Amino acid sequence: MLKDKVCIVTGASRGIGKAIAVELASQGAQIAVIYNGSADKAAETVEECTKLSASKAKAYKCNVADFNECSEVIKEIVKDFERIDVLVNNAGITKDKLLLTMNSDDFNDVISVNLGGVFNMTKNCCRIFTKQRSGKIINISSIVALDGNAGQTNYSASKAGIIGFTKSTAKELASRNICCNAIAPGFIETDMTKDLAQNSDLLDRIPLKRIGKAEEIASVAAFLCNNDYITGQVIRVDGGLTI
Ligand code: NAP
Repeated sequence: MLKDKVCIVTGASRGIGKAIAVELASQGAQIAVIYNGSADKAAETVEECTKLSASKAKAYKCNVADFNECSEVIKEIVKDFERIDVLVNNAGITKDKLLLTMNSDDFNDVISVNLGGVFNMTKNCCRIFTKQRSGKIINISSIVALDGNAGQTNYSASKAGIIGFTKSTAKELASRNICCNAIAPGFIETDMTKDLAQNSDLLDRIPLKRIGKAEEIASVAAFLCNNDYITGQVIRVDGGLTI
């Protein structure tokens, strides 16, 4: 379905990003795996992708919070793959603290990676998408962007910013046949949430009574890659938590 499409996935060394990279590769896509610190894990993602698909996959180190690094990595990817069809902005961090104890570094670091990273990567890809008259941008937000969460003012602000960015980008680029959507996951089992999996209070609040799997986000990302008439939407994948 995505045969030979060139897909960039940020934060694809682990967790949700890795699951998205592997799912897109299983549909025949070529994958640019972006990582920051986990070179070995990024190499494992590349290996899994190439095992699943005859197509190419390659890892690139890039701190998405750094505009120049994003600009250079996009140039390198275009040199290697000749085009870009899909950008999945997935890389993200948390630095959870109550507002009373949060300092400005805790706030700015999370905004720079989570929201700045989406701008830096999208800005550097959109000229290519515009020239091609096609492209898909998928941004990973969170349900806390919609409902807030105590201890996450920095994180929820970054994820709410992604939703505004997604809707505005969708409006700006629709005339060039470019779709931009966001996915808002609930609680998904990854390194980011490893302390939550056994939290029975949390499980009680989720109508489906379990934490989600990274593959359940990946299948929605693949669905959006395969659809040409959805843009500017935020799709919740949360086991019913926000009903
Ligand atoms: P994770 O397991 O902690 O993985 C985070 C990924 O982001 C890693 O691949 C990491 O790369 C990469 N990353 C972090 N900082 C980066 C930077 N400055 N530049 C480039 N890459 C960077 O997290 P996850 O749970 O899979 O989360 C993925 C996305 O889903 C995040 O945006 C997160 O906010 C969002 N989300 C997660 C949940 C959840 O319950 N897990 C819920 C809602 C939303 P390295 O390891 O190479 O540094």
